[in-house]
Amino acid sequence: MFSDYLTESERQLVEKARVFGEEHFTEENVSRWYKEGGIPGDVAEAYRCSDLGYLGFSPERGGPDVSYTAQIAILAELTKSAGAIMPFQSQLLDFQVISRFANEEQMNMILKRYEETSRPCFCTAISDAGSGSDALGYRTTVRKKDGKLVLSGEKVFVANGQHTPYIMVSAKDLTEESDFISAMPSFWLIPSSCEGVSALPINKIGQKIIPFAALRFDNVELKPEWRLGTPYQALSQFQSILDIGRCIICAGSVGLAQAAFDDAVHHANARKIRDRRIGDFQQIGLMLTEMNSMLINMKAHINHACRSIEQGSGAKLAVALMKKYVPATAGEVANRAMQIFGGAGYTDSSRVGRIWIDCRGSQYAVGTDQIMVNIASRAILDKYAEQ
Ligand SMILES: Cc1cc2nc3c(=O)[nH]c(=O)nc-3n(C[C@H](O)[C@H](O)[C@H](O)COP(=O)(O)OP(=O)(O)OC[C@H]3O[C@@H](n4cnc5c(N)ncnc54)[C@H](O)[C@@H]3O)c2cc1C
Repeated sequence: MFSDYLTESERQLVEKARVFGEEHFTEENVSRWYKEGGIPGDVAEAYRCSDLGYLGFSPERGGPDVSYTAQIAILAELTKSAGAIMPFQSQLLDFQVISRFANEEQMNMILKRYEETSRPCFCTAISDAGSGSDALGYRTTVRKKDGKLVLSGEKVFVANGQHTPYIMVSAKDLTEESDFISAMPSFWLIPSSCEGVSALPINKIGQKIIPFAALRFDNVELKPEWRLGTPYQALSQFQSILDIGRCIICAGSVGLAQAAFDDAVHHANARKIRDRRIGDFQQIGLMLTEMNSMLINMKAHINHACRSIEQGSGAKLAVALMKKYVPATAGEVANRAMQIFGGAGYTDSSRVGRIWIDCRGSQYAVGTDQIMVNIASRAILDKYAEQ
């Protein structure tokens, strides 16, 4: 999908993603995994053992030496094959996130667990109950009580929150009497088995291959060595994970949109009414035309954002523009695909309805459309005020 922007070896990895999808993501499998809320162990293991399995880790950790754009292209290809948001999306995000924060010892533990189980051993719990959009307005806190570090609060909508042995959790750091530190997020990698940690499933309406949970932390005693990174790095690390996380979400979105488009074009060619293929009806043709333009625009936004991150300039605006545009537009593409399928689009006899509902979830994950407008509009004003 992004082949113009990739090297030959990166293109080969994207091709491997296509082949992996073709082998494992039959519609029968994907719809079963959707009902069951996860992929089976043999598919997770096949993925880990493939050339894609360590995507998101640095090359020193066994990850492929590829650009962000290539990582996005690989994920988009996997999502396109499945026609559903797959666990490889949250896995790529988790690996990218942890690579920025974890020290040698934490990283070795994570890699060892991954080798043993072929699944990420932690989930990423950032969104506070009651203040998900307010990234620095956490109510979850770490304080010192009787000389001990204590975590309290509640996180919601945590992908895989009930199923991982560790949790990466963010909290307001009230351990020091310092205004600077208390304004920073702090990050911790804690065992889910700690006393005071509880998880409750939340029923999602889409993206059902990745289950959701709410996590409660009731006076959980933390060990200092569970801290990820240092207070002084936390904010810039947090910003960088938001940027890459937003690209990853958009990769899933464009993969879904491409799948919906491909299915719709196929249907518009195959379905005949009075011996005419429906694609020849002008209004169906208009929808296909709009969908194709939207796909081109989505890819351009993603490429622009990935390049801005790689080049270290203008990422804030490029990422916000992308995240505002791509998930919502993917939903528009899927919506048109459903219309082209007629009534069948509103049943589970085609996958476009599932694609549409999976697209919708990405308008919230790692920052809502509205928050993207806030970020983009401020960045636009600043950018042009400087000139
Ligand atoms: C599919 C999916 C996967 C997710 N995965 C994870 C995960 O793994 N880990 C995790 O921690 N979280 C995850 N989330 C949570 C996600 O990050 C939050 O849903 C999101 O940040 C919004 O927070 P909220 O739901 O609390 O909405 P709220 O913050 O309550 O927002 C409600 C509404 O108000 C708007 N709003 C809020 N503030 C402003 C403002 N300043 N200006 C304008 N409008 C505003 C919002 O845009 C929204 O429309 C996931 C969510 C989804 C849907």
